[in-house]
Amino acid sequence: MRCPFCSHDDTKVIDSRLVAEGGQVRRRRECTSCSERFTSYETAELLMPRIIKQNGNREPFDEEKMRAGLLRALEKRPVSIEKIEGVVSQIEHSLQATGEREIESIRVGELVMDQLKLLDQVAFVRFASVYRDFKDLNEFREEIDRLAEEPETSSDD
Ligand SMILES: [Zn+2]
Repeated sequence: MRCPFCSHDDTKVIDSRLVAEGGQVRRRRECTSCSERFTSYETAELLMPRIIKQNGNREPFDEEKMRAGLLRALEKRPVSIEKIEGVVSQIEHSLQATGEREIESIRVGELVMDQLKLLDQVAFVRFASVYRDFKDLNEFREEIDRLAEEPETSSDD
């Protein structure tokens, strides 16, 4: 690691320990040129895959955009912010867990729909109607009928 004092390229580690309950490594370093000491912290970073849009363009995953979509679907629904944030983290975790570097936007939409389906059926239908490109009204109606036939899902199963 480069020395922040003299920009020399080579520094040596003189002490290394786990901090933040093992989630972080704190290293004490000494510059081999000017002998100044400094501390560096290292944490594991789970990479969020880039999103492949339907037109083939790639863009970084946008948490705010996803949250806005969720909030729009859940407008005036009896669902707490805490639960919505839970869903946001759940989806992000699923995306990171794929280990993929790039992921199609349609798959992100499917993840959102899976979560909304458990959270609030009205929000699910709202989101699905925007997200899924329903060919016609009948297709949309079929989806709603199918939903109505499914037994109520409880959140504690
Ligand atoms: Zn130095």
